[in-house]
Amino acid sequence: MTCPIPNTHKRLLEIHRLWHQCLENYFDPEGFRTNLNATIQALRNLTFALQNEKNAIPDFEEWYSIWQDKMRNDEVLSWLNNARVKIVHQKDLETKSIAKVIIKNYLDVAQLELELPPSFPSEVIGSQCVSILSEKFPEQAIKECYAVIERRWTEAKLPSWELLDALAYGFVFLSQLVNEAHEKANCKIDSCPIRDTLHSITKNEILTGKYVCMKMKKELNSQTITLSDFATVTFDFKKVNLDKVTAKKALKRYKIKDIPFNEKEILAYTKKINEMAKKILVKDKYHRQLFMLHFPSIGWKVIDAEVENRTSKFMLMSQIANIVKSDGADAVIHISEAWISNDIEAIANGVEVANTKDRREALSVSVIGKNNLEKSYLTFFKRGLGRRIILGKTEVSENLKDVNFLSPIRRIWNQ
Ligand SMILES: [Zn+2]
Ligand SMILES: [Zn+2]
Repeated sequence: MTCPIPNTHKRLLEIHRLWHQCLENYFDPEGFRTNLNATIQALRNLTFALQNEKNAIPDFEEWYSIWQDKMRNDEVLSWLNNARVKIVHQKDLETKSIAKVIIKNYLDVAQLELELPPSFPSEVIGSQCVSILSEKFPEQAIKECYAVIERRWTEAKLPSWELLDALAYGFVFLSQLVNEAHEKANCKIDSCPIRDTLHSITKNEILTGKYVCMKMKKELNSQTITLSDFATVTFDFKKVNLDKVTAKKALKRYKIKDIPFNEKEILAYTKKINEMAKKILVKDKYHRQLFMLHFPSIGWKVIDAEVENRTSKFMLMSQIANIVKSDGADAVIHISEAWISNDIEAIANGVEVANTKDRREALSVSVIGKNNLEKSYLTFFKRGLGRRIILGKTEVSENLKDVNFLSPIRRIWNQ
């Protein structure tokens, strides 16, 4: 089999390659501009090549006029067309490099957009954010926050689009055009001898034009820094894989009868988990922070989530909320040790709960779920000789509205 429209098809490969060159030069303004211009021209050249190869496609005029209408009515495609006209007349596009900064704790505290060179150091952006925020918030509260900095290239005539995304959108659009042209010429695109060798590409990517590489770039262009020391952080927690053997061992160690991971009755299950957590605390003299996420189709999954400080906990909660959203969890149980204090005044003044005078230790097991499901068990305990755990009474509550750290998750279900 030969490609019915080889020149057109090769232009598509060229666009993919040029898109990667734009990405590689993202932090070099001259390199980015050069490759941006080349990609925009290549996108347009593909349609010229197709018109030159029209004899390979039956009923070309009728078919192509539908595509031309689509292009004219599409925001990005018509921008690409106008941009190309500008470039061939030797004019520059009005590109801007922006740092979009979101300052977060459990919530989004502030959002800033700063026009800056793309290679402008993140530490400096971080310290600018601190000085802007210090007019509104206490210093300690700012320093516990973290900032997600996303670099964006935009153009004056297409302000809401990041430019690599716009190019990727154009690529998907033209891929579909090229695919359909192959089909009309009785050739399947995934068995066409013209193949992209830049990197491995799946059949599905070829068929849809939606390449994973073009979606991944967001992670490359964004960075998370802490506002206490402006260090870049990547935060990862362990998903605990509960195979049967591990589960059995654990049950034996803590003398627990059975704790099925497919139990659907969420409140009853939480009660069981609370009993189990008490046994673990007594036996181990501590309890790690764990989250259990319930997915209607597969049951419960455990996340081991020990964190070092409040900033890490902010990031952790945002990531757990992301999992709840993307994987469709409908309930979350949280288990951890906690310090409880009634000294609201000291806490308001920035004293950590663990350092207040009337602090008490407790084991906390809480559940929140869709449809306002919420319940918590708070078991106070003391440490005796050899740190032996002496359990006190358990307080049950059905109102967790004031539990701030759960709000990123609650927000997902309330949306
Ligand atoms: Zn082909
Ligand atoms: Zn690629």
